[in-house]
Amino acid sequence: MNRQLFPGYTIGDDAYDDIKTICPRYGSKIAVIGGKRALQASRDAIAAAVKETALSILGFFWNGGEASVENIELLEANAEVQQADMIFAVGGGKAIDTAKVLAHRTNRPFFTFPTIASTCASCTSLGILYHPDGSLREYSFSDVPPIHIFINSRIIAEAPRQYLWAGIGDTMAKFYECTTSGRGDVLSHSNALGTAISSMCSDPLVRYGVKALHDCDSNTVSPDLEEIILGIIVSTGLVSNLVGIDLTTGLAHAMYNGFTILPQIERYGHLHGEIVSYGVLVLLAVDGQDEELVRIHQFSEKMGLPTKLSDLHVSREDLGNVIAKALSGIDVRHYPYEVTPEMITAAVDKLESWQ
Ligand SMILES: [Zn+2]
Repeated sequence: MNRQLFPGYTIGDDAYDDIKTICPRYGSKIAVIGGKRALQASRDAIAAAVKETALSILGFFWNGGEASVENIELLEANAEVQQADMIFAVGGGKAIDTAKVLAHRTNRPFFTFPTIASTCASCTSLGILYHPDGSLREYSFSDVPPIHIFINSRIIAEAPRQYLWAGIGDTMAKFYECTTSGRGDVLSHSNALGTAISSMCSDPLVRYGVKALHDCDSNTVSPDLEEIILGIIVSTGLVSNLVGIDLTTGLAHAMYNGFTILPQIERYGHLHGEIVSYGVLVLLAVDGQDEELVRIHQFSEKMGLPTKLSDLHVSREDLGNVIAKALSGIDVRHYPYEVTPEMITAAVDKLESWQ
């Protein structure tokens, strides 16, 4: 059996109004689980939307911070959470994944409420779990995505801009990695469908990115901002749900993994999507996509995304270790050609000497 489930979504500053038409089909009692700031940003709006319905909120529960098995078990043992017919998952990546995996484990329907647009977690069936110390633990695989995504664009417009900024970098990688990693393959229906959708992860972002970031700075809900939010959450999430692991990653994420061994990456607070966006430039240079490299490089400059090692507080001496780590993972295991350290070094040098 090969099953594909698709989440629905509603976007708008009044998106939560749709709770009353969609959620009552799944029961009446709700446990809302989210990050601290996410709950603060959305609590009143969710409560107001539920008020005029037969639904009742059993409580608002903090996810515990980390998306860890330990926190999921604490929530699972909570008597109020146990009574819920459905789970509302509220936040960015980790809080959503905590509530998502809890819903999977306890076989309950769940709905997502992204309060920032930085990852596609609120659209996907996959849960990413961490140890309590923040290190990666495992991927929690499932084919069950949320039933519906309620995207309140007002709340996202009022969130800090860096989430949107980094989210754009991560989203762009989806297109370049998918189409490079799968080049030359005869794709199954779901891989081919996902790859086709991945084309929505680049052009719209280049078109709307600068204006959307500007609108986020002034906390303005605009069509451009909503296009970008849909790109980061929905386009990317659908691709993730549809394509296999070989296509969902590639050289941009390999570079990210390489950079994570350097202490300065964490010290200066460089974000996942920010580093991945530099990886996209490396991918394009290695792949010889010269025209596209010029176009995306220009876009990165306009967006203030990194285009040189120094933008990530990295020096050329660090490169050997970064490349060794980048090539040691699974990201370019499936690729149309072997990626060598020399290819990456040449790509980085090309970016370093960019005029
Ligand atoms: Zn990523």
